[in-house]
Amino acid sequence: ADAAPLLQLRGVETFYGKIQALKGIDIDVNSGEIVTLIGANGAGKSTTMMTIFGAPRARRGRVVFDGKDITALPTHLIARLSIAQSPEGRRIFPRMTVFENLQMGASINNFAHFDEDLERVFTLFPRLKERAPQRGGTLSGGEQQMLAIARALMSRPRLLMLDEPSLGLAPLVVKQIFEVIADLNKREGLTVFLVEQNAFHALKLAHRGYVMVNGLVTMQGTGAELLARPEVRAAYLEGG
Ligand code: ATP
Repeated sequence: ADAAPLLQLRGVETFYGKIQALKGIDIDVNSGEIVTLIGANGAGKSTTMMTIFGAPRARRGRVVFDGKDITALPTHLIARLSIAQSPEGRRIFPRMTVFENLQMGASINNFAHFDEDLERVFTLFPRLKERAPQRGGTLSGGEQQMLAIARALMSRPRLLMLDEPSLGLAPLVVKQIFEVIADLNKREGLTVFLVEQNAFHALKLAHRGYVMVNGLVTMQGTGAELLARPEVRAAYLEGG
């Protein structure tokens, strides 16, 4: 049973009306891994992440989490299975304080271990502790991204899904955020599914990666293997 992936996508097809965004994709995320999904704008990366959450729902294929078929499960029940996400555009609550944003994250598991988890995210992101009483909307882009990740962590996820955490951030901030993700994975074995356009950083961080083109997975391998492939370098690394 140990060998079964924590998350498994099989033949997943997702549509927006008549537009087919996912054309039958297979992805595995094993417990304790960082897995990244890279690809150009519009390839279907965000749709993949959202389909795991059931919004939009896969029209064909299966999404299996921890051995349970969640393809047809309502989104709020999927969240209760300990899958947390930090969506693209770091949708924090701008009018709520940093502290209140973190409370929202903890509400998913009814504030079990709240003090302990708050301490943990403040240790990971000391800036958030300094800014706890401040409204989310007044934070810098990097701090908002940290808050989005911290909020997700407050629910003690078994799977953390991140959609383009590097988007619009300065290289130094990207480095900091990726270091925290690597650290969480190493120290706590946190399983991470990372959707990224920043292929270089993502493949350096990830144990394994998938390349997506136009709704299909076209390549997969370890992060190092994909980084070394000429097609990957040409399409996603050079000049990017
Ligand atoms: P990005 O990095 O820009 O977010 P992506 O790889 O995440 O790109 P998706 O956002 O998943 O790609 O989009 C996949 C395809 O589905 C694109 O062709 C896009 O235009 C289309 N699409 C996405 N959202 C919708 C929607 N709400 N309605 C219709 N088509 C959509």
